[in-house]
Amino acid sequence: MMKKGPFDLVLLGPPGAGKGTQAAYLAKAYGLLHISTGDMLRQAVKDGGVTGLEVKRYMEAGELVPDDIVTKSVVERMGKPDASSGVMLDGYPRNSAQAGTLDESLSEEGRELATVLYFNTPEEVVIQRLSGRRVCKQCGKNYHVTNMPSAKEGVCDICGGELIQRKDDNIDTIKNRLNVYKDNTADLISYYRKKGKLMEVDGGLPAGELFEQIDALFKREGLI
Ligand code: AMP
Repeated sequence: MMKKGPFDLVLLGPPGAGKGTQAAYLAKAYGLLHISTGDMLRQAVKDGGVTGLEVKRYMEAGELVPDDIVTKSVVERMGKPDASSGVMLDGYPRNSAQAGTLDESLSEEGRELATVLYFNTPEEVVIQRLSGRRVCKQCGKNYHVTNMPSAKEGVCDICGGELIQRKDDNIDTIKNRLNVYKDNTADLISYYRKKGKLMEVDGGLPAGELFEQIDALFKREGLI
């Protein structure tokens, strides 16, 4: 059971920290709405059009997509009725401009972030996870060749779709994404810490253990 009123949460950490995996657990356990900007942007690429083509270039290079494009989609998504009881933002904000926009749009609605969950994760873990990640082409479920394999190699357990490697999960792009994270996103750790919003967890833990840690933390802090 969630506390009364909207429960808005940010999942912060480098790519490969396990934010998406934990978001799926949290969505299931607490009914929180998972908003992943990466997923939204990948959908925009699939949909095509001028925006899709522009977004594709940035994503394949591991660069940040321009703020105006990302922010517009996030704000629109958060304005939908199913977001009124709270959202779990995965991959947003990714720089201080986005963090400022998020604060403003929440406060316009009389809302405030309940907490920011920071996944502190060693770089070697992140590289190992991203380079072994496989994704279902059809339903988007994530796997890992050794940490979280599908029952049948190359086939999604859920929908039978084909498992593929994301174009940005190659070693050169992974390294660039980590640099982009250090240059743009890592500053948000101190930004939210100063606001008293930061809760740190160990992103290096296996997924099940990490969920138990998060669940215990939420209960201890009276968030759920
Ligand atoms: P992710 O799935 O979170 O690893 O995101 C994949 C890619 O989508 C990133 O490398 C960026 O190119 C883009 N992206 C996702 N979220 C954002 C954001 N908040 N701002 C800018 N670009 C983003």
